[in-house]
Amino acid sequence: MVELCEVALPVPLRTTFTYAAPQALTAATACGMRVVVPFRNRAMVGVVVANAQEEERRDQVREISEVLDSEPALTPPLIALGRWVASYYLAPVGEVFRAMLPPVVEVRTVRELSRTVAGAQYLGELEALEERTDEERAELAVLTAFAADGQAEGAARLRRLGGGEAAIGRLLRRGALEARVVAKRRTRAPVEFESDAPAEWAPDAPRHALNSEQKRALDAVRADLAAREFRVNLLHGVTGSGKTEVYLGAIEAALAAGRTALVLVPEIALTMALSRLLEARLGREAGVTVLHSALPDGERSAAWWAVRRGAARVVVGTRSAVFAPLERLGLVVVDEEQEASYKQEETPKYHGRDAALVRAKLEGAVVVLGSATPSLESYQNARREKYRLLELPMRVAERPLARVELVDLREDFRQTHSTRALSERLRTAIAERLEAGTQALILINRRGYSWFQLCRSCGAAVECRNCSIALTYHKQRGRLVCHYCAHSRPVLSACPKCGQKYMYFVGEGAEQVEEQLRTEFPRARIGRLDRDKVRTQQEYRKILGAFAAGELDLLVGTQMLAKGHDFHRVTLAGVVSADLALGLPDFRSAERTFQLLTQVAGRAGRGEMHGDVLIQTHYPEHYAIQAGARQDYHAFFEKEAQFRRAMHYPPFAALANVIVRDRKLENAAKWARQLAAILAPEEERGLKVLGPAAAPLARLRGEHRMQFLIKSPKRTLLTQALTRALDACTEKGIPDGAVLMDVDPIGLM
Ligand code: ADP
Ligand code: ZN
Repeated sequence: MVELCEVALPVPLRTTFTYAAPQALTAATACGMRVVVPFRNRAMVGVVVANAQEEERRDQVREISEVLDSEPALTPPLIALGRWVASYYLAPVGEVFRAMLPPVVEVRTVRELSRTVAGAQYLGELEALEERTDEERAELAVLTAFAADGQAEGAARLRRLGGGEAAIGRLLRRGALEARVVAKRRTRAPVEFESDAPAEWAPDAPRHALNSEQKRALDAVRADLAAREFRVNLLHGVTGSGKTEVYLGAIEAALAAGRTALVLVPEIALTMALSRLLEARLGREAGVTVLHSALPDGERSAAWWAVRRGAARVVVGTRSAVFAPLERLGLVVVDEEQEASYKQEETPKYHGRDAALVRAKLEGAVVVLGSATPSLESYQNARREKYRLLELPMRVAERPLARVELVDLREDFRQTHSTRALSERLRTAIAERLEAGTQALILINRRGYSWFQLCRSCGAAVECRNCSIALTYHKQRGRLVCHYCAHSRPVLSACPKCGQKYMYFVGEGAEQVEEQLRTEFPRARIGRLDRDKVRTQQEYRKILGAFAAGELDLLVGTQMLAKGHDFHRVTLAGVVSADLALGLPDFRSAERTFQLLTQVAGRAGRGEMHGDVLIQTHYPEHYAIQAGARQDYHAFFEKEAQFRRAMHYPPFAALANVIVRDRKLENAAKWARQLAAILAPEEERGLKVLGPAAAPLARLRGEHRMQFLIKSPKRTLLTQALTRALDACTEKGIPDGAVLMDVDPIGLM
């Protein structure tokens, strides 16, 4: 008797589907293998995740049409991890597994057409006509292209017939043709795995003698590795305290014990430098492999399978690399664990760090979370002794932390009456660096030239037509651009509301600060680093390489600048405005401000030379800015923890952001009312349900958005409530996809 399997398919549904295993396989051996199955009218690639329960309508179960793998792509712990992600984040299980699997390069899907019985009849009618219109002639050509039995034809060839495309559409609608999507094996040879990284910019890898704090931290992690048990360490080390060296030692220890290591970093751009450092230190045998979503499909597939087959023992990657198919996992490092980029903003909305913790638990691995500014969640876990806290309170080689000075912009304005982005104090400091031949970083955390265009007469800002947000002015492109949906339009000379010609620009972005610097310092060599200027990894490496080589004096840019880089000749870091994040309606805005300031401060004075940091602000008394200036994490944590506890925010409550959306406002409002009724009884179980209210981004990409915030004193209560709510939405006929759940949200827009 054939066996039945549960197959996860990439569709937005919270279920798996039952298929019969092909003759040669049992359901148990098929577990973890990718398969092609018929789903509705098309072939789809999914993955077998379990033996299926006995089905009543066994005879109606369709059979797996092709097995793509000769060995399971996913190991049992990875299948368990996928199931955890799906249930914890309320995500469609098939979409979770698609995110875990390598890109499907083995097959391509093509649309095939076949002629139906009705089609054969219609063909007869067309043939019998004395005269035919152009449309009928095209339909006749398409229908006669099929063999007598109506056999399938590739759609591409038929479309090339005159008028074919439109004729096919009409014939499909009248039932004369049937379309289905089939999977075809690709014949071309697979891409070879090539671990050789391009050699434009190579850090050398000197082995440092560890200082006593580094040694103590490393010894603790080594002891955990020897115990072969799940354990989490929070490595809290100030910027420049040598955390990387501790990671390296831990990875060496894991490899020496015959196990593998996974290293997560918050940005694709940081994978390259770290992987080369690891390769230099660990040697080629370690097979250091980089995995991230920007690799071309062929390369990513090849690298993924190299890891799966055991050729790679160390993986360095971004968020999605948490699913790297390493076996005998011994160590997981999450660098800059507080970074928002670990949270995926599309479905499945998982947090890479938290998925890494669950994975390590499933595989009995040791975790090191590293940060100069740990998230409140992680630090609170360390305080409650769920994690072991390892501290590196000093910079290496007795280098002092950079000296931070706050520049009060109100005071600067009173004295200079200048509205330029750069204060007198910051300009003087830059001039001194140029004079001395050292380097400076200038951080401005806004893209574009101006924040928005405003009418002086009626006060209206120019908004996006799809989103309730002002358009940002990009001078080089000469357009107003939406940072949410990428819609753009020409700059306006008259107000669209009142017709007056008094349009002006408000606020400075990176483009404008670069322009002001070029005017102010015409002889300086200036580079800019932001997503508008730098679109590829090559461009990114080129600019950073030029700065590292001393070919640039000043580097201006967005927070891309603040992350992780180790430049030794930077003696000044300037922050154009510390206040931007503080204005956002988000309970994490103080934390984000503190983190950014600490990170920027961490970029200066990393070499032999002393570093200064200048932070411009309108709110020098704000606790996030005060603590950021002193680089005093503990003071910040105490203050922020008080606020979070009082307001029932994480880490003192579990939080979910639920958005109800539709192109029609009345639908979004109706479904939000229904959901409010569904959620109401949860309040008796101890949950707090805030909303429905218009979301901060009330319109996004043409959709209206209503928002609920749900707070729960207990995690399990939250998961249960959200699961029940989604089931009830389905029962009430609220469409799948209209209700978006974000568990442990990072942004609340
Ligand atoms: P961070 O804690 O900010 O991640 P890094 O790991 O980048 O710091 O280390 C900062 C610098 O100190 C690097 O250039 C690194 O090579 C160097 N370094 C690390 N450990 C030592 C040590 N024990 N003695 C001297 N230099 C060290
Ligand atoms: Zn938009």
